[in-house]
Amino acid sequence: MPLQINKTELESIRAHAARDYPSECCGVLLGHAEDDAKLLLEVVPLANLRHDPARAQELLPVDDPGRETEKNRFLIDPLDQLRVEKDARQRGLEVLGYYHSHPDHPPRPSIYDRDHAWPWYSYVIIAVEQGVPKDLMSWVLEEDRSTFRAETLAICDW
Ligand SMILES: [Zn+2]
Repeated sequence: MPLQINKTELESIRAHAARDYPSECCGVLLGHAEDDAKLLLEVVPLANLRHDPARAQELLPVDDPGRETEKNRFLIDPLDQLRVEKDARQRGLEVLGYYHSHPDHPPRPSIYDRDHAWPWYSYVIIAVEQGVPKDLMSWVLEEDRSTFRAETLAICDW
């Protein structure tokens, strides 16, 4: 099922990724799921909770807090998640997925990404090289959670 995105939302993800470099940025993708495509209508940038290592470690501990920081991990605050979901529902929008950046790494999901993803949702990853946003890809976790497959990204003009 392709993910359809327009240039404004795409630019919003790219700008957020550049702004937060060299940290990972993250956010939520809202829109409508149709029978044959997901229409991405809104990008909601959020703070990466790994900026607050003590709180992040309480919520979702990492094995090595010295090396697993906001530069290579992201975490969405559950309170932000609830607020965004509630607001989306009130406006008739659905959560289609999430985006985050990979500072100085290719836009491919890490094992950490796989372990913290759910099937169906789109996981958009954007590479940022030396502060400049580069390749962007969308991924969907297989039902058996074994691996991600690349999702077709259609850039639209609407
Ligand atoms: Zn990642």
